[in-house]
Amino acid sequence: MNILEIFTTIVQIDSESGNEEKISVFIQNFLAQRNIEFSQEKEFQIIAKIPAKNKNISEIKKLMFCAHMDTVSPGKNIEIIIDKNGKITSSGNTILGADNKASLANMLLLIDKISKNEIENHHQLEFVFTTKEEIDEPAVYKLNIESLQSELGFIFDKANEENINTVVSVASSISDFTVELKGKGAHASTPERAINALEMLISFVSELKLGNCYPNSTLNIGVINGGEATNTVPSVIHLAGDFRSESPEYMKKIEEDLRRAQMKVLSAKKFKDANIDINIIIYCKGYTHNVNSPAFKNLEKIYSQLGYDGIKVLKTQSGSDASCFMNHRLNVIETFCLNDGCFEVHTVKEWTTIENLEKLQEIMQKIVKYW
Ligand SMILES: [Zn+2]
Repeated sequence: MNILEIFTTIVQIDSESGNEEKISVFIQNFLAQRNIEFSQEKEFQIIAKIPAKNKNISEIKKLMFCAHMDTVSPGKNIEIIIDKNGKITSSGNTILGADNKASLANMLLLIDKISKNEIENHHQLEFVFTTKEEIDEPAVYKLNIESLQSELGFIFDKANEENINTVVSVASSISDFTVELKGKGAHASTPERAINALEMLISFVSELKLGNCYPNSTLNIGVINGGEATNTVPSVIHLAGDFRSESPEYMKKIEEDLRRAQMKVLSAKKFKDANIDINIIIYCKGYTHNVNSPAFKNLEKIYSQLGYDGIKVLKTQSGSDASCFMNHRLNVIETFCLNDGCFEVHTVKEWTTIENLEKLQEIMQKIVKYW
């Protein structure tokens, strides 16, 4: 079995978020065939455990690898195309699903090699396979987290980075929000009887700074829905969006800005009988790694030994399961989010290369052997 075989096999198992049963069953069979101990978790998630094999390891470390099994859409009937340079893409009608199957495939290959005694020494390992990572309520929160013993975690889920030795040092907090602007409908010919939800929207948005609202912070309204008919003054408009920041203070400020905009609109005389509901949900809290910590230094050493120029640290505004392990509702497992060697993820142009798939295997093997 090589990395390309396992990668193409799992890419061809459709697993859009919420439809991960098939791939979960595939992985469970894969583990069972190799006598790997695993538990079935809620929402088709899996935790596999492998004891250390420590002929020459003086101190056993407990390490976790985690990847998500789900993909974004369109992710059904993915056709794989490999060009002569080893670039792997889809046919252009779907995503490729390399996010996160590049990592998933490598975890499975690593497990396969361990089961065949092809890896001499390795630390105690836990492999976590999550679902619904790409949607608002990641299933990782439903794992039986107490069963995990790992001290450190590795999640290869940072895309679009030129240097394979890129590691996230700072990840932003992300909060999702919805807004319901509720006025009063009326026939287009009698606008004086209406409270126009569209006017409320204009007023609401004009009170906010969208985009880069504060340093290293963003506010976005991504979904706008409303209106009933061409001849009706809209009675209600729904908005949904998110805001992100490295700084807890700015997260609070943005939330206050939304509330202030709400009050401002409702204080206008023409909107006195209107209503605005704002609902804010924490998607994930951000985290900051201490780049001088022993773990970070060790990671640097691992990449250097593989011939890379240390590691490239990166601040990111995107979330991953690493954010969930680092804090919020889960117990803290110090978890690194590392480059997965994939590009243009979440688009039909998504691609990776055979070389990058092989590099990930090399990095994973180095970690399990020499951490
Ligand atoms: Zn991902």
